[in-house]
Amino acid sequence: MQQLSDSDVAAGRLGQLPAAIAAAFDAALAGDGIDDRQALHLLEIERDHLPALFAVAGHIRDLHKGKQVTYSPKAFFPVTNLCLDRCSYCTFRHDPGSPSAWTMLPEDVRDVARRAARLGCSEALMCLGDKPERGYRSYRKTLAVLGHDSTVSYVAQCCEIALDEGMLPHTNAGLLSRDEMARLRPLNVSLGLMLESTSTRLRERGGAHFNAPDKDPALRIAMMREAGELAIPFTTGILLGIGETLRDRVESLRAIAELHRAGGHIQEIIVQNFRAKPSTKMAARAEPESYETATAVAVARLMMPRMNLQVPPNLNPYDLRLFLAAGINDWGGISPLTLDFVNPEAPWPQIQSLAATCAAEGFELRPRLPVYPEFSGSDFIDPALRARIETLRASQGAPHVDTLA
Ligand code: SF4
Repeated sequence: MQQLSDSDVAAGRLGQLPAAIAAAFDAALAGDGIDDRQALHLLEIERDHLPALFAVAGHIRDLHKGKQVTYSPKAFFPVTNLCLDRCSYCTFRHDPGSPSAWTMLPEDVRDVARRAARLGCSEALMCLGDKPERGYRSYRKTLAVLGHDSTVSYVAQCCEIALDEGMLPHTNAGLLSRDEMARLRPLNVSLGLMLESTSTRLRERGGAHFNAPDKDPALRIAMMREAGELAIPFTTGILLGIGETLRDRVESLRAIAELHRAGGHIQEIIVQNFRAKPSTKMAARAEPESYETATAVAVARLMMPRMNLQVPPNLNPYDLRLFLAAGINDWGGISPLTLDFVNPEAPWPQIQSLAATCAAEGFELRPRLPVYPEFSGSDFIDPALRARIETLRASQGAPHVDTLA
């Protein structure tokens, strides 16, 4: 595919474009962000016009984020892989009694945290199934033996251990109540929950979320709104290719933009592509092709020019240059120690190799903390965590800072 340069964008040399596409680019370049109708036009864009879309998105990314692309050195703590939901694409969850079911013990958490900190990791990603204690008596017994009556209570202990070992926790434990988030806030520099999609059709019979009541988009949006009210930096994102329409993608991105407008707390948006996994109900479902994912990235960039945008590099090892061109500024967490337990078949890239790829495209790869610098010195961070953040940030060097709007 022919590439257009920044000077082509500045000079308006974007080729012969349909009027609706040209108007969308004009709106984006004027700095206002595009509206939903324009976003939908761009998601439907013909392949011939993709170089122009990527050039505009890249130009806007450069304007707000510079030529730095970040990643978060992390360790993945799959505290428990028991989960009441049954998303049709998931290989992470298991039932109690399965040989593959686990709940990490405190000594496991400490061991991983200690080794990860020695390797220079700052992010302790606590990623686990959604409240298994609601359905599994054996798990409630496990929690009781560990001295807890809820998963959140146990995750809080795991976070304390990670902090004790010099890491900064970022928890994604599924749907959490306001009280549960308030409990985790002093122990986490940020929380996460993928919106995935605003489509309620995915909850219907045959849909990806039919057996996953916690994937009700209204519940997830409500939780993220409460996270904003609690001033918690928040990571969310959309999942492409699980049965949603292009219009659903626009609505999902708009929902995230509205959450950020209300709470100012969305620190990054992940644009994640569905991967079909053997043994799941969606094993035969077609995966989004690279250009489809890149188009979604570029449209997200035009809708939210200042937002941090991320694509997981381990799910797209051959498309890294494409996503840089499409407007990302972050690669998310990458671990030198632990698997991506949600996608164990997808190894992390080597940092040196990723840095070389970025450099070849004119970008500097920089490590970051699991809270973005825009939030780290502010009221979004519990005072108890600020000194730890500063210490770790000093050891990493300070990445480019832009204000989120
Ligand atoms: S994707 Fe998350 S919520 Fe869905 S089944 Fe897997 S662990 Fe549970």
